[in-house]
Amino acid sequence: MPEETMFSKIIRHEIPATILFQDERITAFADINAQAPTHILIVPNKIIPTVNDVTPADEADLGHMFVVAAKLAKEQGIAEQGYRLIVNCGPDGGQEVYHLHMHLLGGRRLGRMLKMN
Ligand code: 5GP
Repeated sequence: MPEETMFSKIIRHEIPATILFQDERITAFADINAQAPTHILIVPNKIIPTVNDVTPADEADLGHMFVVAAKLAKEQGIAEQGYRLIVNCGPDGGQEVYHLHMHLLGGRRLGRMLKMN
């Protein structure tokens, strides 16, 4: 079994978080350290540590993350102006929490895709 992170506790409602969507496959909640007016994390309920651990059995959950991202972007009023979806993987990718997640960022001009720091 992969090791649990804080995200599993959020999914089980054991620690506080602003949960914006939850079903049997995925959970979406506000990032605790928002980098933009909208900053939501969309995570599979099942622990998948990184993109390197994804298997064909995860395709439905991962596809559902995009469907929910689009729904949340509409609800947040950022769909028309646009937004960014980010999935970090491993140390060079800047991943801090080893429970795969998609960042949904928007509500301001996000600038260049990569910052060199
Ligand atoms: P990563 O760098 O792994 O792609 O992003 C991890 C994200 O999780 C960061 O943006 C960080 O602010 C967020 N985060 C870490 N711990 C918590 C937490 O306990 N609650 C919430 N809501 N977000 C968290």
